[in-house]
Amino acid sequence: MLGNLGRSLSKTMKKLAGMTIVDEEVVREVIKDIQRALIQSDVNIKLVFNLSKSIEERALKEEPPRGITPKEHIISIVYEEMVKLLGEKSHELVIDDKPYRILFLGLQGSGKTTTIGKLARYLRKKGFTVGVVCTDTWRPAALEQLKQYTEGQDISIYGDPETRDALDLAEKGLASFQKKDVIIFDTAGRHKEEKDLLREMEELSAIVKPHEAILVIDGTIGQQAREQALAFKGATDVGSIIVTKLDGSAKGGGALSAVAEIGAPIKFIGTGERIDDLEVFDPERFISRLLGMGDLRTLLEKVEEVSEEDIAEESLDAILSGKFTLKDMRVQFEMMGKMGPLQQVMNMLPGIGKLPKDASRMTEETIKKYLIIMDSMTEEELEKPEIIKHSRIKRIARGSGMRNEDVKELLKYYRVTKKAMKGLGRRNMGGPMGQLMRQFMR
Ligand code: GDP
Ligand code: MG
Repeated sequence: MLGNLGRSLSKTMKKLAGMTIVDEEVVREVIKDIQRALIQSDVNIKLVFNLSKSIEERALKEEPPRGITPKEHIISIVYEEMVKLLGEKSHELVIDDKPYRILFLGLQGSGKTTTIGKLARYLRKKGFTVGVVCTDTWRPAALEQLKQYTEGQDISIYGDPETRDALDLAEKGLASFQKKDVIIFDTAGRHKEEKDLLREMEELSAIVKPHEAILVIDGTIGQQAREQALAFKGATDVGSIIVTKLDGSAKGGGALSAVAEIGAPIKFIGTGERIDDLEVFDPERFISRLLGMGDLRTLLEKVEEVSEEDIAEESLDAILSGKFTLKDMRVQFEMMGKMGPLQQVMNMLPGIGKLPKDASRMTEETIKKYLIIMDSMTEEELEKPEIIKHSRIKRIARGSGMRNEDVKELLKYYRVTKKAMKGLGRRNMGGPMGQLMRQFMR
């Protein structure tokens, strides 16, 4: 992804990893390489300058943490500062109302219709029902394009090629999809004058009253993306951004860093023309890949290990006080795949109470089933399982291709396990059980 930028950055990191001594000169050389790569990718000069300054200052001033070599330290600084450039955290698309209305904004050709097809499929996989309203009255085959793109996915499309009135289309589409979980509005993004386009978006917005307006930006325009994003943001309430065409784009780095600055999170990126080429945007994962270091994870884990004891204690406290989420349970399941069923492991440890019956009956098949179900949950649901009630259960079942009963069974298993975790008590945590728990939580 991002073609040359990825290639030159990973080359720089490899070079650094191969150095025997790192001194000021090496730091400066690395920074120069990074600068060259970023500028070629059209990243704004000021951003490049600030990034270089931070890396240089930290690399020369900060002491490497215990157990970390100066070289590893610099690599992790480069990584951290690059992640900051892209906004640090990932932001999930949270569907918290029904019908959840999403208005797509962006210039013609930026990739709105394509991305709507991708997003509709993504939401369908999570079990949401989706309707798409075509308000594009400019492109002759706009409706056809949408239909083709969503064929066979159980996604409803509303449109009327005879109508020239985008507002009327929006209104009728909105009325016809009241029963859907999500309604997505596609727009033309084209006008003779920019101010007319922005006015039309305002008018559409007044009718749709979107929960979220998503701006689609073409990643090949580089740092110009900033101005474009600001123009839309000035006229409408842009809630989030999707940057498209990042597959092989020479200026993608410029577009991402420019857009990350404007204060609306990048939620997804488009990485190709196929229906599956949509990724949840996670700056950390993105930069790891861009720096091309498979080892980077290992290194960062090592950096974290320094304070690992504290971290483990902390999350253990959280779990024992009852803050055990479905996310924690998923980690356990993934571990079980490697270590064998929990009860079996626990049986080997003397003096540990039995897990609830349900837990001991966990087979590999059940674990697989539960993992599939959890894949259809949103981040919010994994973190706050108590919000999963009737309609969410139905949706999750639909998305994962399971029965409602399966989802309920999983939730029951979760509640029982959570209670058991709490009951295990703090006193056991220094002994073998504590170690086991720590194993499970890594
Ligand atoms: P719209 O006018 O904003 O609706 O844009 P379209 O969805 O019609 O897309 C315009 C062109 O960009 C089409 O040829 C798409 O195939 C292409 N496109 C959209 N997203 C991507 C992407 O992520 N990667 C690539 N390579 N092409 C894309
Ligand atoms: Mg379109």
